Amino acid sequence: TRIRPSSKRCAVIGGSGFLGRHLVERLVEKGYSVAVFDIAQRYDIPGVTFHQGDLCDKQALLKILKDVSLVFHCASPSPACDDRALFWKVNVEGTRTVLQACQEAGVQKLVLTSSASVVFEGTDIKNGKEDLPYAKKPIDYYTETKIHQEKIVLQACSKEKDFLTVAIRPHGIFGPRDPQLVPILVDTARKGKMKFIIGDGTNLVDFTYVENVVHGHILAAEHLKADSPLCGKAYHITNDEPIRF
Ligand code: NAD
Repeated sequence: TRIRPSSKRCAVIGGSGFLGRHLVERLVEKGYSVAVFDIAQRYDIPGVTFHQGDLCDKQALLKILKDVSLVFHCASPSPACDDRALFWKVNVEGTRTVLQACQEAGVQKLVLTSSASVVFEGTDIKNGKEDLPYAKKPIDYYTETKIHQEKIVLQACSKEKDFLTVAIRPHGIFGPRDPQLVPILVDTARKGKMKFIIGDGTNLVDFTYVENVVHGHILAAEHLKADSPLCGKAYHITNDEPIRF
C-alpha cells in the first residue's frame, strides 16, 4: 500500500512569479509546507524549499513531487513574449508533463491558474459566467495555449484515479510587486501616451487584487474533494466591482 502524502505538503510550479510568490507566502502562513518549482529562484523564505527546473522535464518534477499531495500550477511564459512555439512547449506539452508527473508521484489535487481570456473573442462580456464557450478565435497565442492547457487539466480530473483538478480564471491581477500591469500603465501615462480613449470612456475591465486571487486558489484546493462539484471545473474570479477606465 502506498503511504498517502501529508495533506499539508504542497508544491507551487511557477512559485517564483508574481502570483506564485504571493501564493507561497499565504500557504506558509496557513501552515502548509511548500516546495517551489521554477526555472528561476528570485527570493528566499524560511521553510520553503526551492527547486530550479523546467516543468517540461518530468524527471525534475518527479524529484519534488514524491511526497506532495497538492500542486498549484501557475507557471507560464510571459504573455508579452508572443512566442508561439514557447507557449505550446510550456503551456500545452509542459502541462501534459506536469499531469503525468503528478499522477506517477501520487499527487491527489492540482489547481491550475488559467485566465478569463479563454472565453474572450474581442466582443464585450459583462457578468460572464463559466458556461460561456471557449473562444473559437483566441486573441493571441498565449490565450490559444491557455485554452488547450485548461482543457487538458480539467479532462485529467478522475475520481477513479484519485486525482482531482480545478482551474481558476482571473483576468488582470494587481497588487504589490506586480511586474507588469500597473508599472507599464504608469510608465505609459508618464510618457504622455495615454491621451486617447477606446470607446466612449465607459469601458470596464476586470482586475483582481492578488490576495483575492490567492484566496480563490486556496479555497479551490481545500474544497476539491471527490464528492464536491468543483471537480474538473473552471471558475472565474474577480473582486466585487470591476474597475472603470
Ligand atoms: P509571472 O511571469 O510573474 O510568473 C510565472 C512564473 O512561471 C515565473 O516565475 C517563471 O519563471 C515561471 N516559469 C515560466 N516558464 C517556466 C517553465 N518552463 N518551468 C518552470 N517555471 C516556469 O506571471 P504571473 O503574473 O504570476 O502569472 C501566473 C499565472 O497566472 C500564469 O499562468 C498566467 O497565465 C496567469 N494569469 C496571470 C494574470 C496577470 O494579470 N498577471 C492574469 C490572468 C492569468
